[in-house]
Amino acid sequence: MKRSLISLAVMALLGLSTGLAPLTVAAAPAAKAAKATTQLPRNAVPTHYAVSLVPDAANSSFSASVVIALDIKQASNSITLNAADLKFSAAAISAGPGKPALAASKISVDNDKQTATFEFAQPLAVGSYQLKLDYTGVIGTQAAGIFSLDYQNGGEKKRALYTQFENSEARRMIPSWDEPFYKATFALEATVPAGQMAVSNMPLASTSKLADGRELVRFATSPKMSTYLLFFGLGEFERASAVEGGTELGVVTQKGSLGQAQFALDSSVAVLKEYNDYFGVKYPLPKLDNIAAPGRSQFFSAMENWGAIFTFEAAILLDPRVATQSDKETSFLVAAHEMAHQWFGDLVTMTWWDDLWLNEGFASWMESRTTTRLHPEWNWELRAVGTREQAMGRDALVTTHPVVQHIATVEQASQAFDSITYQKGESVIRMLENYVGDDAWRAGVRSYMAKHAYGNTVSDDLWREVEKAAHKPITAIAHDFTLQPGVPMIRVADAVCKNGQTTIALTQGEFSKDRTDKKPLSWRVPVIAQTVGGAPVRALVNGKASMTLPGCGTVLVNAGQSGYYRTLYAPKAFAALTDSFAGLPAIDQLGLLSDSWSLGMAGLMPASSFLDLASKAPLDAAPQVWEQIAGSLAALHQSYEGKPEQQAALDRYARKRLAPVLARVGWTKAADEAAPVANLRETLINVLGAVGDEGVVAEARRRYAASATDKDAMPAALRRPILGVIAANADAATWDQLHAAAREEKSTMIKSELYDLLAIVKDKALAQRALELALTDEGGATEGASILNHVAGHHPDMAYDFAVGHHGQLEKKIDATSRSRYFPGLGGRSADPAMIDKLRAYAKQYLPAEAQGDTRTAIASIQYRVKLRTTRLPEIDAWLAKHG
Ligand SMILES: [Zn+2]
Repeated sequence: MKRSLISLAVMALLGLSTGLAPLTVAAAPAAKAAKATTQLPRNAVPTHYAVSLVPDAANSSFSASVVIALDIKQASNSITLNAADLKFSAAAISAGPGKPALAASKISVDNDKQTATFEFAQPLAVGSYQLKLDYTGVIGTQAAGIFSLDYQNGGEKKRALYTQFENSEARRMIPSWDEPFYKATFALEATVPAGQMAVSNMPLASTSKLADGRELVRFATSPKMSTYLLFFGLGEFERASAVEGGTELGVVTQKGSLGQAQFALDSSVAVLKEYNDYFGVKYPLPKLDNIAAPGRSQFFSAMENWGAIFTFEAAILLDPRVATQSDKETSFLVAAHEMAHQWFGDLVTMTWWDDLWLNEGFASWMESRTTTRLHPEWNWELRAVGTREQAMGRDALVTTHPVVQHIATVEQASQAFDSITYQKGESVIRMLENYVGDDAWRAGVRSYMAKHAYGNTVSDDLWREVEKAAHKPITAIAHDFTLQPGVPMIRVADAVCKNGQTTIALTQGEFSKDRTDKKPLSWRVPVIAQTVGGAPVRALVNGKASMTLPGCGTVLVNAGQSGYYRTLYAPKAFAALTDSFAGLPAIDQLGLLSDSWSLGMAGLMPASSFLDLASKAPLDAAPQVWEQIAGSLAALHQSYEGKPEQQAALDRYARKRLAPVLARVGWTKAADEAAPVANLRETLINVLGAVGDEGVVAEARRRYAASATDKDAMPAALRRPILGVIAANADAATWDQLHAAAREEKSTMIKSELYDLLAIVKDKALAQRALELALTDEGGATEGASILNHVAGHHPDMAYDFAVGHHGQLEKKIDATSRSRYFPGLGGRSADPAMIDKLRAYAKQYLPAEAQGDTRTAIASIQYRVKLRTTRLPEIDAWLAKHG
């Protein structure tokens, strides 16, 4: 699954850099498969499901029957499986086809545990059986279980059906052993309206006309797989396809949108070729579709169903009217991520959610690696620092958790989809791959795949294979970084130079933003250090260490930035690096900016160290470096909210630094422009608009006004940042104009964007109108939650109070999986200490104890923000007074 996407610039402007989520759970050693957590009795094991589905889209319900082939392992007179919101009309068991059937004597449903139990008058002896169940269920409006999405197409109202089963929602469509460990084969058939296209994991095996005009479609039987990977889609679709390595690759869209899918189709061809080679096990299904759907989720943007990836339109299609460079990157990244899961997750699956990171950390790393390789012109390798920051921002709070964590409930599993699982997982893999070398790493992955295909694993199964391939112990290092939480910190003492060699003393500690009460944890940290321009030297640092580097000069630790740790230099060493900043590789410039920002905000360095470094960035620094500086200045601007004088001083400085960069890249794309410049231009317009650059605001307004008659005034590449500036600064008349445009828009994808824009307005009265809009279905059933989330950017307290005040109405607008994180997520962006009690009261009223991890992190984020405003900003004020 790919989490919901939000652009870097928007993230910075919305103050999202420290994010939200996790649980506080003690480190747990990886469990053995046989002992894996289960919520079901282990007396029965399913081997095959034959599902027959009759959806009634118009009435948002379905009827179905399933025949489950299963083995009874321990004699029992009852069978318990997962079921949610299903009503059973019949249940019977037999020893096989044609054998006498025994009807269940009692069917009981436990809504809290999401189980159904079937009791039989006679005990079932050990052996093989077929359980046949007839039942009905509900088609929802949010992405959980089987759900519908409504949209306009050619002026007509349409409804399409899709499924979303991760992590534990297959039980809403099929009574099943809905845990990743219970792999089985699936044969799905469905009765569907003629003229609609049905899509599932496997290709269609047959289609037959029924007497009433409907069609019975049968899909080929799937390989052995987990329930959460099953998919069914139905609607007025069209499909484009291509063949790579004997596999048919397809993109499925709503009718009329296929023209926007060519880039996605081309991407999937290139990625499949790459993965067939990398994994050493060829993609095992006959086809792989990617189904684009209108609407959105607050939780995810795409899902890796085996052979039938599901992606919301905004994360896959490129509409030439609005598509930007970053949309193109997103489309490719999301495909690369979900396709990596076809191996890591689908072919080899974690035994239980404790090891979810094996899916998500790996797919995230593979996505970055593949994007870097196949689109070198995007310089994607530079994003590694931003990824690491997303993880560390959360990992340095006391409420963090280890990458491998114990999960007991479905709610906890939902909360595990966070930046520790994804971004820390990715960053740790990057470090370990760098440590053993990429050939050894790949050899390890290949043998892991070959050995565990169609099976389930825990993290140690991966370490074992990599260690064998690398002939180098990595399990102990991997355990340090995955079984214990937190961020290591390496202190670097001033260097001593003698006989052309530099000696540095290093001390390993821990970086925490809010914890002082505990001895630092201990890690074996793979460190790479060099003198600037000299050869890199490697060491494994645990406790105290010294390194000798060839050459004399400025010392750079974590050179290349593959390490997951913070580097704290002694003042003289940092001053030397500041002086050398302009000549460092871009990746190290990014790493130094990030470290100095975080260490400064945490009080371990002067808060202004970041500004000292940023002031050394030359105008022609890499676009990613300027994006990061702009993003940090935007975050500072946000931190000064409610302090107008100080904010004005920061804004003045930000304009002085950033306006010349925008002047250099211009508003119009140069013919020979490098691809990342387009992203920088977008970020600069956004941030300069936010810090009140009159020239940028005026130019945005001029272009917006001119666009009514001149298409070239607002080309696709500039449309989003221009509208962002217009919407943020909108008065009532402008807001009404944008609202009218949103209402009239025909494209579901563009319509969603326009409704989001209405929500980023700074004016409070207009933001209130956006909140009211969120309660309606005007922008579509999945849009309300997004509107509120965007209002929370400028007005977190207002958005939170409104959301909780309308809790019942809003809960229906969020998919079940995101409920325990959505509300705390809004409040967690506040800087008002009063929000802390509000969040505690919310958790007490609405959340079970095991689902309060996001609330705790939201509270920790607010506490940190309050501390930062009172204790750290004065140093920034003083710096600005001197340099502003
Ligand atoms: Zn994923």
